[in-house]
Amino acid sequence: VMDRKAFDKNTAPPSAQTKSSSAKNHAEPPPSIVSEPEDGGERYSIGAFLGKGGFAVCYEGALARNGRVYAMKVVKSQMPQKKMEEKFRTELQIHSKMRHPFIVQFYRAFAFESSTYVVLELCPNGSVMDMVRKRRCLSLPEVRRFMIQLCAAVKYLHKRFVAHRDLKMGNLFLDHNMNIKVGDFGLAAMILSDKDAKRRNTLCGTPNYIAPEVLDKSKGGHTQKVDIWSLGVICFAMLTGYPPFQSKTQEEIYKKVRNLSYAWPKESDTNNFIPEEAKDLVTSCLNLVDEERPDPDDIVEHPFFNMYDGCIPRQLDAGCRYNKPLWL
Ligand code: ADP
Repeated sequence: VMDRKAFDKNTAPPSAQTKSSSAKNHAEPPPSIVSEPEDGGERYSIGAFLGKGGFAVCYEGALARNGRVYAMKVVKSQMPQKKMEEKFRTELQIHSKMRHPFIVQFYRAFAFESSTYVVLELCPNGSVMDMVRKRRCLSLPEVRRFMIQLCAAVKYLHKRFVAHRDLKMGNLFLDHNMNIKVGDFGLAAMILSDKDAKRRNTLCGTPNYIAPEVLDKSKGGHTQKVDIWSLGVICFAMLTGYPPFQSKTQEEIYKKVRNLSYAWPKESDTNNFIPEEAKDLVTSCLNLVDEERPDPDDIVEHPFFNMYDGCIPRQLDAGCRYNKPLWL
């Protein structure tokens, strides 16, 4: 039905496009040992390559002292643009203050040779994006579990006036217990007041997940509610296997977003049944009027999580990255 391969990454916004050109700076791998600058600082041995993002490359890093393994995000200290440098600084500032079971834990950041190294909690099971690609779509119990964990993380962020602004399946990492860990705070912002919201009218996010008020500058900025829109997109995508506003070009995606034009798959097209409760939850998040979108607390109270046969698994096996779990 859709070009599913591309759906988190396609048609990146202009800001992300400038980011990706700089990732080429990372053609050479980092040194095998990196150390914190202070006397007696920790040393890490760099291990397996984990992945590459807009402007960072990630490797496993083992703490020399005890062998404990982390994710090391490597960013060139000298960035080609001042704007990117500022963004990275905001990312570190915001992420370093967060501490929550469903948010990638930030440990420290330090400079070594010509790069900055960010030491993060390792998420060895990939992302929800990888999982949906392999599985096509997720089962209702899995969707419930991920949505509840995601709501807990978003509630925590919003309570601290942080808007993540780039929630998407590719930024929902999975730890060894298959718990969600929200990562990549590269577009996060503090939005403390209406005045702040008014200043927030930069185009940011990933086209498929972007809220309508971010597209429309005349609306006077955006708030934390942009994240709730993204939750709606994520929920739809986990249920169906494709994001609701998927299109070939960025312009077409934006047009569909503005017109709230999306369709659920016909039941005959897929073998998976999507209950009305799930559709209603997505509909409530994909509201063009941002104030009318639910808060994380409202979402977890939604009937979708309380259906008569609606189980929420307490544990998930890592095998469900590849295969539908057998619940009975
Ligand atoms: P960027 O900010 O440049 O987009 P990301 O934070 O998205 O970089 O990281 C780039 C890639 O590195 C991710 O797509 C993922 O594959 C991997 N990665 C990032 N953080 C972790 C982590 N905590 N654990 C495991 N892999 C990670």
